[in-house]
Amino acid sequence: MEATERVHCLIIGSGPAGYTAAIYAARANLKPVLYQGIQPGGQLTITTEVENYPGYPDGVQGPQMMVDFEKQAARMGADIRYGIATKVDFSSLPHKVWIDDEKLIEADSVIISTGASAKWLGLESEQRLNGYGVSACAVCDGFFFRGKEVAIVGAGDTACEEAIYLSKLCTTVHMLIRKDAMRASKIMQDRVLKAPNIRVYWNTETLEILGDQKVHAVKVKNNQSGEVAEIPIQGFFVAIGHQPNSDIFKGMIEMDEAGYIKTIPGTSKTNLEGVFAAGDVQDKHYRQAVTAAGSGCMAALDAERYLSAKGIV
Ligand SMILES: Cc1cc2nc3c(=O)[nH]c(=O)nc-3n(C[C@H](O)[C@H](O)[C@H](O)COP(=O)(O)OP(=O)(O)OC[C@H]3O[C@@H](n4cnc5c(N)ncnc54)[C@H](O)[C@@H]3O)c2cc1C
Repeated sequence: MEATERVHCLIIGSGPAGYTAAIYAARANLKPVLYQGIQPGGQLTITTEVENYPGYPDGVQGPQMMVDFEKQAARMGADIRYGIATKVDFSSLPHKVWIDDEKLIEADSVIISTGASAKWLGLESEQRLNGYGVSACAVCDGFFFRGKEVAIVGAGDTACEEAIYLSKLCTTVHMLIRKDAMRASKIMQDRVLKAPNIRVYWNTETLEILGDQKVHAVKVKNNQSGEVAEIPIQGFFVAIGHQPNSDIFKGMIEMDEAGYIKTIPGTSKTNLEGVFAAGDVQDKHYRQAVTAAGSGCMAALDAERYLSAKGIV
């Protein structure tokens, strides 16, 4: 028989959103239980320097920052556990969440903070140089390339936004586009094409990012002419999209067409009673640690008010 446990507040995910929710929920005496998932600490554990999170005047390594988040949540009394939510049933109260296909948690409230994953090209050099010149976030890492040359791959609105952001920091932005057209809206394309220091390369594929300890060039191929070239750069940005980690919730909760969980604007409330969402899994616009943490706080406060109104806590 499967083990069953009843909790007031279940938090799924251990990125900035999940740990912040845990800090607030623990301090409100909700006795939160948090499952960390496959990537304890979340996306920041795969980066190096984080310079834009307030409270770290000298910057901090991403993995260290997430150790600090975890320590703080644990000190407040959050019950932090290894385990992956593998199935949910939100059709009746209490909500049901299965962990590692064995343990069943019955929860009066659930905070979904399962984050998102950047899509990558799948090159070996991209993995090896990730955090050493390769990035999937211009807002996070563009600052490190002030006055330098960078390349960006992608053809959608986000890629255009990031290229424009980088063009204000970098000398030249080489924008690599696989086809002979962009997917982005006309207005974003126009802004890119008008920027004096963004150079667009059509029909261009990335063969390899070159560099030993850090990026020094990108090797590209024109898929029409077959011509191969090396572009000297110091930073390489991948902007081909993100995937919210929301597969297990499909069919259970309202999402947009890309799989981002919908929340009622200005709150963390979903369309389901007692289910709240925070962080990148419900935010395709900002995708920053500080916004994820802020929405984790909102989710814990919304959960507390919900449980309190129901007379549960
Ligand atoms: C390379 C890189 C560098 C970045 N640099 C910066 C930066 O400098 N500054 C900045 O502000 N932002 C940066 N970001 C963005 C930032 O990391 C994210 O915005 C932030 O981590 C989102 O937090 P989150 O809590 O929503 O989710 P995530 O950090 O994505 O964490 C999601 C968590 O959910 C867990 N999870 C997923 N599915 C399940 C499941 N089924 N069961 C249980 N747990 C589950 C995962 O294990 C993980 O712990 C960077 C991102 C990347 C990829």
